[in-house]
Amino acid sequence: MTLSTERQIAIAAVREACHLTRIVQSRLVAGATLAKKDRSPVTVADFGAQALVSHRLAVALDDPLVGEEDAAALRADPAMAEKVVSSVQARESSLSAAAVLDAIDRGTHAGGPSGRFWTLDPIDGTRGFLRMAQYAVALALIEDGQVQLGVLGCPALDWNGQKGCIFAAVRGQGAFVRGIDDDAETPVHVTDITEAAQARFCESVEKAHSKHSDSARIAELLGITQPPYRIDSQCKYAAVALGDASIYLRLPTRKDYVERIWDHAAGVAVVTEAGGRVTDIRGNALDFSQGRGLERNKGVITTNGHLHDATLSAVGRVLDF
Ligand code: AMP
Ligand code: MG
Repeated sequence: MTLSTERQIAIAAVREACHLTRIVQSRLVAGATLAKKDRSPVTVADFGAQALVSHRLAVALDDPLVGEEDAAALRADPAMAEKVVSSVQARESSLSAAAVLDAIDRGTHAGGPSGRFWTLDPIDGTRGFLRMAQYAVALALIEDGQVQLGVLGCPALDWNGQKGCIFAAVRGQGAFVRGIDDDAETPVHVTDITEAAQARFCESVEKAHSKHSDSARIAELLGITQPPYRIDSQCKYAAVALGDASIYLRLPTRKDYVERIWDHAAGVAVVTEAGGRVTDIRGNALDFSQGRGLERNKGVITTNGHLHDATLSAVGRVLDF
């Protein structure tokens, strides 16, 4: 399966969404907005990016979409809907307000084990977005439960002396990165570190999303001395794919949390094609066939491959599962 058309369409859609999110973020006066606990900029960017990507996919291909957002809240809030619609129309002037809301609502597909669908996190790492730090636009194509294509836009990630880059990976074809507006791309590869003690690991900035006290104990067992690289969103998968870290630990903070497929599918495609390995904390492959959640998995462990067994064994000694 070459998926070259799908790859091109997905990159173009993610690029557009990255531009939208950047424009909305540039209007954010960080301190003032956070002080007021006003999350509206992230809301506009989140819905706007989903509308753009969903619309582009619908025009070009006829696949269903599992998106993080739906438009129910917007339909009940005309003032917010108006802001979303104008952010989208700034990039896609032919879209009516109704078409914007309908495009967002295309994201309600249930996912599951058979057939082909896309999954989208229009802004992964909303807290990073609000902190003017890292966030990602994450789009993946899943077919019969297998991630076939991942495109990960990282609008604020420095790469090759420029701000912002997009990763793309088709199963079996390797992983590549390019600047946001570039056409030329460069292959990316994980580190070849085989001694865990030499490794750097990354994890969520947010303590509520991954247990920092457990990762500190795991790092100690592995002999890791470098401090954790804390970065929001699926930029963690990008960090491992680029070789900026060799391990990404996502450790459960509570027993009942089920990871969402849009939080992982694109990143898993990229890091796997860059030569890395991804499992849950028990060493099982992530199972994208279970609907909108990774119902059969707990946590996520990503490594450069060489360090996977050692990392899982340290995880097993620290966590009780
Ligand atoms: P990160 O930027 O890696 O901290 O992850 C952001 C994502 O964490 C969000 O998109 C949420 O879907 C997800 N999330 C929310 N609550 C939890 C939780 N308790 N455990 C793990 N992930 C969570
Ligand atoms: Mg997310």
